[in-house]
Amino acid sequence: MRAVVQNDKNRARVAKPAAGTAALALTAALLAGCGGGSAPGPAAGHGGPARPADPRARQAAEHARLVAAARRWGLDRVPRTPPAPPARKPVITPRDGFEVDGQEEEDLPPVFTTVPTRQKVVFLTIDDGAEKDPAFLRMMSELKIPYTAFLSNYLVKDDYGYFRRMQAEGVTLDNHTLTHPYLPGLSYEEQKDEICGMQTVMKKQFGKAPTVFRPPYGNYNGDTLRAAKSCGIKYAPIWDEEVFVDHWEYRDWDRSLHPGDIVLTHFRGRDDWDGTMVDDMRRFLNKVTAEGYAVARLEDYL
Ligand SMILES: [Zn+2]
Repeated sequence: MRAVVQNDKNRARVAKPAAGTAALALTAALLAGCGGGSAPGPAAGHGGPARPADPRARQAAEHARLVAAARRWGLDRVPRTPPAPPARKPVITPRDGFEVDGQEEEDLPPVFTTVPTRQKVVFLTIDDGAEKDPAFLRMMSELKIPYTAFLSNYLVKDDYGYFRRMQAEGVTLDNHTLTHPYLPGLSYEEQKDEICGMQTVMKKQFGKAPTVFRPPYGNYNGDTLRAAKSCGIKYAPIWDEEVFVDHWEYRDWDRSLHPGDIVLTHFRGRDDWDGTMVDDMRRFLNKVTAEGYAVARLEDYL
């Protein structure tokens, strides 16, 4: 966890706020709920012996800190706090129509787009790894937004350190192949090289081979899941919605978020689209918060 104290140097480097900042919808009630602006001063970080003894004072200080962070990053509202992780993990099965032959008999990793839950949560997943924006890391850390990164080696190998910093913030790094190919066009052995080869890279660079894998473009066949299973993969989540810097795309006809939906976006910046990672996250967070959803950690449900 990050200390509560904000670094002035970091603050000065925060990205330019969006045009909508003036319309910040922080209600009086919300502000009152976090101590009416008279929250205790910078505490000595989480878990240390010097933190305020009164849990309510701590909570108020934490909330005030989040309100300030939401304002600093130009959000319409403070992101909702996710519920505690489920005591019993949901049973994950393949989405209907997304199974392969032998799925059940061979106990292959399920491909799914939504986690079965009634909680109003969505899961943020970010793919590939081309853009390595330090402001994005600060934003997510200051707002305490959990997410999962699916990395493809050819895009991350020039700066593993960026993703190690992400990992140190509690983000899970998962497998998205070595070179991001269209997997169904490859033989079983070639697919295995792509997936298991990335497992080896991740173990070496990040200390751990993941159990979660996402096929590039969401394309796979039976060999993909068989190869993935052979190198320790248990889950193959894809996504139900995709957020871009300027719009959303939906897999389902109803074009809306559902409890447990997995949302995809990409590590992209101005080279790829008309905005930064921070702009993209602002779009994502403003919508999910306005629709009553919190962002939860995918791994807590797997
Ligand atoms: Zn990808």
